[in-house]
Amino acid sequence: MPHVITDACTKCMSCVEVCPVSCIHPGLIEPELDTAPQLYIDPDECIHCGACASECPVDAIFPAEDIPADKAKFTQINADYYKK
Ligand code: SF4
Repeated sequence: MPHVITDACTKCMSCVEVCPVSCIHPGLIEPELDTAPQLYIDPDECIHCGACASECPVDAIFPAEDIPADKAKFTQINADYYKK
C-alpha cells in the first residue's frame, strides 16, 4: 500500500525532495502548485519506502494502512488527484 498525504500538509516540499521515485505532486515547477490545497502521492508509483513521512515536519504523511480514522478519506483524495 502507498503512503498518503493528509490535510496537515503545508506544501513545504520537503517530501518532494526526498522521494526516490518522484511520485509526489504538484512539484515546484508545476502550475497546479499555486492552487492545490496540499501535495498528493501517486499510489501507483509509490514504492512505500517511508522517506517522505520521515522528512515531513508536520507529520502529514502516513502509510495507508496506518492512517488515522479521521484522515482515512485522504487515501482516496490522493488517488483521485492522479485521475484528472
Ligand atoms: Fe515517495 Fe517513498 Fe513517500 Fe512513496 S513512501 S511517496 S516512494 S518517499
